[in-house]
Amino acid sequence: MKAIILNQPKDFSIKDIETPSIKADEVLIRIRTSGICTNDVRDFNGDCNYSYPRIGGHEYCGTIAKIGDEVNSSRFHEGQKVVQYIIDDCKECYFCKHGEENICEEHPNSKIFHNPDGLSGYGGFAEYVVAKAEDLFVYPEETSFEKMAFTEPLACVVNSIERTNIKFGDDVVVIGGGTMGLLHVVLAKMKGARVILSEPLEERREKALSLGCDDVVNPIAEDAVTAVKNLTEGRGALVVFNTTAIPAIAAQAVEMTAPTGTVVMFSSIHPNEPVPVDMGAVHSYQKTITGAVSPTISSFHQAVQLIGKGLVDPTVFTEEIFDYQDFDKAIKTASKPDTYKVILKFGE
Ligand SMILES: [Zn+2]
Ligand SMILES: [Zn+2]
Repeated sequence: MKAIILNQPKDFSIKDIETPSIKADEVLIRIRTSGICTNDVRDFNGDCNYSYPRIGGHEYCGTIAKIGDEVNSSRFHEGQKVVQYIIDDCKECYFCKHGEENICEEHPNSKIFHNPDGLSGYGGFAEYVVAKAEDLFVYPEETSFEKMAFTEPLACVVNSIERTNIKFGDDVVVIGGGTMGLLHVVLAKMKGARVILSEPLEERREKALSLGCDDVVNPIAEDAVTAVKNLTEGRGALVVFNTTAIPAIAAQAVEMTAPTGTVVMFSSIHPNEPVPVDMGAVHSYQKTITGAVSPTISSFHQAVQLIGKGLVDPTVFTEEIFDYQDFDKAIKTASKPDTYKVILKFGE
């Protein structure tokens, strides 16, 4: 099979490597589309401590190409459209048992991050990938591969929304109007909130409004904390999602959170500097500061339902679809700060 192999940071080659073989409880997925994540861009630039060579890509989907002998053939068959739960959850540790597979103790030790004897990575930038049948989610035949590529990003946002308790009419702020920020806008609207987006780019604020966002703030033109307080009778928002990486904005996110409210650090923070927080206010006003990382199994399931049933159409966030052989152009486009989701296509 063909695979995009990252030999070293900023150095990749498209190589013919052996198509992986499957065990009895596994299936071979023929990948059809694979989204490029901000993490893939960091990976490409070496802005992480993973081992190389690597095959990146964790936002992939495709069809079942081959089925292991022990896979339930009444449930799975060749040609079926599937996505795979991408966390290598051990199902044995404390957090897996507790229903938080995304915090699995073994996942950081998996070959996805470090493989001294070979390739590391999720493997989605290749023509085929192996999956355990139990990790598969099946899509209806009519769902497009373009939509399916958004499963993992949407699942991350479902997990983020579930870190909060949004009630009808609550004020919700989303900081950052990239793909992940706007997916928060869409899902928070579905939860019945009044949603405010803080985003410096006009085009993104316009897009948010077109998706049903109620109010927008330009943090370059005005102080975002003051603007949010002005829109909320001085309280701040009950729920704030920070989808940007800048430490100073993380501090603002806490500041604009209303008494009894919850602020979610959705994005990783780069550079990861300590952020000064008014802990007195956290105490006095019972604010909750939390984070959201990878998707749980439940959030993956919900993302599949949202996309498969047409409740969310994520294709409004497609920047461009590239053939995988144009990876060079694709990663350049994905590296620009103002792009939405760049997707690689494998085969027709
Ligand atoms: Zn991702
Ligand atoms: Zn585990």
